[in-house]
Amino acid sequence: MKKIFYPLMTALVLLTSCVTDKADGPRKVFEPFTVENLEPRPDFWKVRPQEITDLCEKVKVGRSEIIAETPLGFPVYAVFYGDFSEPAPQTNFSAGNSSATVISYLGDRYRDPDVKQTVLYLTGVHGSEPEGVAAAANMIQMFETGKDFRGQTDPELLELASKYRIIIIPCLNMDGRSICPDHLRGQPYEVFRKACQGTWSDGSLIGWLGSKEYFPLPLDRVSFPGGYTNGNGYNIQHDCTPGDMKTEEAKAVCRLMARWRVDLLLNVHSCEISSTMFEPGLVDTPEHIKRGNTLYTKVLGAFKEAGLREDVPEMEGGDEAVDLTQLANYCSGALGLTVECSSSYDDIHNPKVCYTFDQLMESAILAFKTVMDDGLREPFNRRNLP
Ligand SMILES: [Zn+2]
Repeated sequence: MKKIFYPLMTALVLLTSCVTDKADGPRKVFEPFTVENLEPRPDFWKVRPQEITDLCEKVKVGRSEIIAETPLGFPVYAVFYGDFSEPAPQTNFSAGNSSATVISYLGDRYRDPDVKQTVLYLTGVHGSEPEGVAAAANMIQMFETGKDFRGQTDPELLELASKYRIIIIPCLNMDGRSICPDHLRGQPYEVFRKACQGTWSDGSLIGWLGSKEYFPLPLDRVSFPGGYTNGNGYNIQHDCTPGDMKTEEAKAVCRLMARWRVDLLLNVHSCEISSTMFEPGLVDTPEHIKRGNTLYTKVLGAFKEAGLREDVPEMEGGDEAVDLTQLANYCSGALGLTVECSSSYDDIHNPKVCYTFDQLMESAILAFKTVMDDGLREPFNRRNLP
């Protein structure tokens, strides 16, 4: 894989605000978003691009691979745990699933009734949302050394992980991460919105919905683009138009899912309220929606039991979004689910009280454990097996 001089790239991103000429036109590089008097992060909160790079480069128990390069030149890593030695599929999921047996796509390992399912933990799709990244870094550290960056172990997580093939993408949007604070704990709504979706040239908020009116965000009209998008202004979560995908990051995730026949995609984001999960996407198979509904209830139940939220809300009939999570089904027949960690406040119990840093990343780990636990009793997909 191509070696990139990351420290220089990081320095460029951190210290300059300039226009650089690229083959696809001038690209504006923005100064990082800073928050006055932001409380220091704890040592275990590893979320900076260089920290993710260093961690992934040291992986020995598993295997790490650079699956894409971002517009700003950062590497995107995937880390693999388990046996990933089988040859590439002889057909793709679409064709294989329409053949006599989907084994033609899945491969012979699926002839074993005890085959280990493959789960993909994807996070950092929005660079301004570091909670899932912190969780990923701590899980990688634990899988490598037995203990996370807090010096703690989690026998339940290790036991569950041993029963799956696991792929972790610890930070997909390294560009967005490189210009965002380590965290937004304790910050008011406006600061969260500025860091996430950015500000127009006049200083006004672009906004969560407003940011989606553009693809890409017109970088020449913003004073700060937010960590939502990559260096070219694309929101990777919405880069899912067949035949017209724009980002190497989204394409790499899809290739990865197809190559390794991923069974479950857990796409971990953050929001400004209590930790939650999106209802399964309606643009999916009835079996996936049914399976996703069960997992939705179990994950929110686990959040409630852990004191991360107060209630398990009534389901509203499914999520109509079409985004990167929904592509899982098209790539490998995988069930795709989106989790939202809280970035700061517990708005249900007491909006003035912040979650601790441990709690902020706990939602991601707990969701991962909950779905893996349930997946041992009932597979994530009903495959058309012989
Ligand atoms: Zn997000």
